[in-house]
Amino acid sequence: MSEQFEKLRPHLERQMALENALILYSWDNETLAPKEAMDNTAKVIGILSAESYQALVNDEVRELLRALKEPKEFDSLSSLEQCIVKKLTKSFDRLEKIPADEYRAYSELTAKAGQIWSNAKESNDFAAFAPTLKEIVTYQKKFASYTKKPDMSLYDAMLDENEEGILTRELDVFFGKIKEEVVPLLKKVVAQNDGVDKQYNIRNYPVEKQREFCRFLAEYIGFDFNRGVMAESAHPFTTNLHNHDVRITNHFHEDNLESAMFSVIHEGGHALYEMGVDDALTLTPVGGGTSMGVHESQSRFYENVLGRSEAFWKPLFDKLKDTYPDTLADVDLTQFIRGINKAEPGPVRTEADELTYPLHIIIRYEIEKMLMEDLISVEELPRVWNEKYKEYLGVTPKNDAEGVLQDVHWSGGAFGYFPSYAIGNAVAAQIYAYMHNEVNVKECLENGNLMPIREYLREHIHSFGSTKNMNELLVAMTGEPLNAEYYTKYLTEKYTKLYLS
Ligand code: ZN
Repeated sequence: MSEQFEKLRPHLERQMALENALILYSWDNETLAPKEAMDNTAKVIGILSAESYQALVNDEVRELLRALKEPKEFDSLSSLEQCIVKKLTKSFDRLEKIPADEYRAYSELTAKAGQIWSNAKESNDFAAFAPTLKEIVTYQKKFASYTKKPDMSLYDAMLDENEEGILTRELDVFFGKIKEEVVPLLKKVVAQNDGVDKQYNIRNYPVEKQREFCRFLAEYIGFDFNRGVMAESAHPFTTNLHNHDVRITNHFHEDNLESAMFSVIHEGGHALYEMGVDDALTLTPVGGGTSMGVHESQSRFYENVLGRSEAFWKPLFDKLKDTYPDTLADVDLTQFIRGINKAEPGPVRTEADELTYPLHIIIRYEIEKMLMEDLISVEELPRVWNEKYKEYLGVTPKNDAEGVLQDVHWSGGAFGYFPSYAIGNAVAAQIYAYMHNEVNVKECLENGNLMPIREYLREHIHSFGSTKNMNELLVAMTGEPLNAEYYTKYLTEKYTKLYLS
């Protein structure tokens, strides 16, 4: 046992406890906290963030990390301890470059910004959010300028935070490939599936019934209610304190059947990842999912690859019809499967189908890049947003609430995050292509037994927490790093079979 590592332990525990408190506050802000709590709670969050920062960034930890990285000392550590030292060094180096007072002010700002964004969206008033967004962008640029490596742009530094090593150079190629294949495919599919009747989706579905069915779906895919809870928020999300406390939210619309169902499968996929992290790792700095991209690969795998397949619904469709016997009386499984996969360009990302989805991400990627390179200002965002929607999807949002204000991400300072959704789709397709070698996915789905699928993902991805990065996981599983070919091939095959053959 390393004496130095034992000295590090209390620092890690203190920071972990403070981070847990911060996660609970942010969960509470999104789900239960009263509106007027914002200003006072933001102060508490600011203080806790500062404490959390100091728990890690201090002379004692700096000295311990230096000693632990000495080759002789490092070699004496267990592989888990080595991973922790590496991860901690990375966070330490990053945090140390950001002045403590700026970090605290920024934490307070983003704690308040969520509510400001939400009010602006509700009243369709971009100007009410713009000054706050401007401040966030300024901080983001400043932080990126402190932390970036010499050969990186500011936006590269933000991307690197989300997915190690996947920068604008890689993403330009990745998105280029998707544009090249998906845009023409979408045109063909839209011309063919205009006649797909999904009127069933916008009938009346009582919220109480939806809650019940979504709880069933969560359990069906393997969400463990002894280790997790489900609440409601404006925007569905997943968070976790550790692998025995994983929380998902959902939102319900009485006139929309699909929205809540696919949200719960999506968030459930995130939750299975966190629940599956090895017990030895949880509550350590490597105890959570490894990156946003890998996280999204799990949620999207469940939501799209499994959840929108015919095999998934075969054993479930009667139960769905029994839940809404009158409303769904005239709908059969074939119509439902075509309906849930209908490709229809629209203005809202979270309601987008699998085929138009990556175009929503490309739009955000291009806009963020321009914003961080000072090619556009915050004030110009609504105009640029609408122009890009016209260009890529042929639609114009009816107002800013439906346009540039639709997503919460920027209010939390999450720039460079959106690409992880598309990366997630691509990783999901790559995993799916290889999973067949070990698991008969179709048979599992048709038999209503999803456990072998969860166990496969647990063994190859979930259990590792963040001891391996995305490409390390992919190489071990599939023999190659991220490869967009699987994704475009998956989309082409799926949509050709559904609508073009
Ligand atoms: Zn997600």
